[in-house]
Amino acid sequence: MSKKQFKTESKRLLDLMINSVYTNKEIFLRELVSNASDALDKLHFKLLTDNSTTGGSALEIRLVPDKEARTLTIADNGIGMTHDELETNLGTIAKSGTLAFKTALKAKGEDGAADDADNSAPEVIGQFGVGFYSAFMVADRISVLSRAHGADDAWEFSSTGLDGYTVSPAEKDACGTVITLHLKADSDEENYSRFLDTYTLTSLIKKYSDYIRYPIKMTVEETRVKQSEECECDHDHGEDCECGHEHKAPEYETVTEEKTLNSMIPLWRRNKNELTDDDYNGFYTDKFHDYEAPLKHIHSRTEGGVTYNSILYIPASAPYNFYSKNYKRGLQLYSNGVMIMESCEDLLPDYFGFVKGLVDSSDISLNISREMLQQSRQLRAIAAGLKKKIRSELEKMLDDDRDNYEKFFKAFGLSLKYGIYESYGMEGENLQDLLLFKSAKQDKLITLKEYTARLVENQTEIYYATGESEELIKALPQYKYLVDKGYDILMLTENVDEFMLRMLNGYEGKPYKSITDKDINIQDEDEKKALEEKMAQYAGLLTAVKDALDGKVKEVRLSPRLSDSPAALTSDGPLSLEMEKVLSESHLASDAKAERVLELNPDHHVIQALDGAKDDAEKLALYAKLLYAQAQITAGLKLDDPTEFASLLSTLIV
Ligand code: ADP
Repeated sequence: MSKKQFKTESKRLLDLMINSVYTNKEIFLRELVSNASDALDKLHFKLLTDNSTTGGSALEIRLVPDKEARTLTIADNGIGMTHDELETNLGTIAKSGTLAFKTALKAKGEDGAADDADNSAPEVIGQFGVGFYSAFMVADRISVLSRAHGADDAWEFSSTGLDGYTVSPAEKDACGTVITLHLKADSDEENYSRFLDTYTLTSLIKKYSDYIRYPIKMTVEETRVKQSEECECDHDHGEDCECGHEHKAPEYETVTEEKTLNSMIPLWRRNKNELTDDDYNGFYTDKFHDYEAPLKHIHSRTEGGVTYNSILYIPASAPYNFYSKNYKRGLQLYSNGVMIMESCEDLLPDYFGFVKGLVDSSDISLNISREMLQQSRQLRAIAAGLKKKIRSELEKMLDDDRDNYEKFFKAFGLSLKYGIYESYGMEGENLQDLLLFKSAKQDKLITLKEYTARLVENQTEIYYATGESEELIKALPQYKYLVDKGYDILMLTENVDEFMLRMLNGYEGKPYKSITDKDINIQDEDEKKALEEKMAQYAGLLTAVKDALDGKVKEVRLSPRLSDSPAALTSDGPLSLEMEKVLSESHLASDAKAERVLELNPDHHVIQALDGAKDDAEKLALYAKLLYAQAQITAGLKLDDPTEFASLLSTLIV
C-alpha cells in the first residue's frame, strides 16, 4: 500500500492550519464533534426518508480518552465514508475549493511564499471546509476508520500530517466513523495531555458543543463516598452525637459511569436570555465555517400561520466568491429538528443572499421533495417573514450601531443595490432606506433620508455625480459649481449605482438628477436671464462648433456650471457617459453609445476667443476638435482618434 501525497495547495493549507490559523488549539474537538453530528444528521435523514432499517443502535457520539496509549477517540455511528469518500473528503483538503482557494489567495496577492501567506490567509481559510485538519494541531498521527452506511467494507485513512496519507482495508462491524488522535508529546508551551482528562473534555463539550442534538457520551471515572459506609442518620455527627451508631471515617470508591456530556437542546430552541454572544458566535463559526465572528445575530421565534424558529447571522465580510456564481446562498432548513436541506435558496431573496443561518419549522414536512418545497405555502410565508425581519434588523443596526452598519454596507451594500436594479425598482421601497452614499459636503456616508434632511432652501432635486473614483468626481467642472452653491452631491463610484438610481422614482417626491444634466433646477431667475442673453450672443458659435464636429455630438450648448473649465462633455437621453463606460466593459451592450452633448462655458476666455474666430472655418474646426478632445479626457473617456489629436497639437505648436 503506497503512501499518497496531499495536493500541493493542500499541503500549504495544512501547514497554515497546523501552525497559524487557530491559536486556540482546543477547538479541534468542536470541529470533530460537529463533523460527527453532521454524519449522524445525514444518516438520521436517510433512515427517516428511505424507510430503511434503523441499523439497531441509537445515534450517538462517543469520546474515549486513553491515557496509556495517549490517544483520544471520537466515534460516531453516522453515515460513514466509503473508500472514495475518505480519499476525496480527507485526502484533499478544502475539497470544496482547492482551486477556488488558490484563486482567493491570488486575489489577495498572497500566492507567493508561504511565509507571507500567514498574515492574511486565515480569513480565507475560514471559508473552506478544513475542520478535520484542525486535529493536526494536537495530534501527530490521525487515523480514521470508517464504514459507510449500506457498504460491506470498511477502510482506514491514516496520516501523520504533511507527508501524506494512506487508505487501507479494515474491519468494522457497523456503519460510522472512528477518529483516533495520537496526541503530540507535551512541551513547555503546550500541555496536550489535558485532552485525555475527562474533566477537561467534559467542560470543552459543554463550552462548544452543548447544543449538539445527539448524545455525546463518555465513560467517566468518579471518586465518591462508598454507599455502604455512609451512616443513615439524617443529622450531622458531632463529638457529642448520641445517636448510638458507630461512626467510621468515610471510605471512597472509584466508580466508572457512562455520562452524556451535552444538554442536546438545539441552540435555536433555547431561550434567548440564557444565551451569550459567545454561544451565538461559536455556533456560527462552527456551523457556517466562517473564521470571523458575525456582525449580528438575529434569533427569533414566529408563531401564527406558520410556526418557526430561526437564527440568522450577518457576516462581517463578504466571502471571496460572494459576488460570483459559485457562491452558495441559502439557509439550512430543519423540519422539527431534523435537517432536510443544507442550503435552501428559496428562503432568502437574492439581495439578502449574504445572510447565513437556519430555520426550523414543524410545519414543513420531513419528506417534502425539493420541487414540492418550492411550491409550499409555508415556505413562502417563512421567506416573507424572514425578509421583513432581516430588513428591520438592518434598519435597527443603521440607527443604533452605525459603525457596524457601515462595515456591513461596505461588504454587502452592492448586493442591496443589485436587488433594486434587478427588480426594476420594485424592491426600491424595501431597500432604499438601507443604502448609503458618500456625501460630497459631509465627506462621510449618508442615507437618502439624511440627504433630504439637509436640503438647500427650495431644493427640489437630489443631486448625484458618477465617476470611477471620488477624485475624478471632484474634478468634474459641475461638481465645484454645485458645492460652491451649498448643494450636497451623492458621489457614485460603483458601476451599478446610476443604473440603480434610474430604476427609482426619486426619494420623498424629489427626483434624482445628475450634476451634468442640463435641466437641473438650481438657477435663479437672474442667472436664467443672463444665460438666455448669452445663448443669443453665441448662437452662431454653437452652430459652427457643432458643424465642425461633424456629427460627433448631438448638440453644442452653453452651460453656466463649468466653473474654471472651458468645455465639458455630457449626455442627453437614457444613457449617461458613465453608463456607456460600464456597458462597454460588460460585453452586454458593448456598443451602446450615450448621446454626446458638448457644453461650453460662456464666461471662459477660451470660448470668448473662439467666438472671435468663428468666421475662420479652418481655425474653428481645429479649436472645436481640440476642445472636444479635452472634454473627452476630463470626462474619463478614451479619445475617438488619438492620432488626430496628436496631429492637431502639432499643428498648433507650428
Ligand atoms: P467540513 O466539515 O467543513 O466540510 P472537514 O475537513 O471537517 O470539512 O470534513 C470534510 C468532509 O469529510 C466533510 O464534509 C464530510 O463529508 C467528511 N467527514 C468528516 N468527518 C466525518 C464523519 N465523522 N463522518 C462522515 N463524514 C465525515
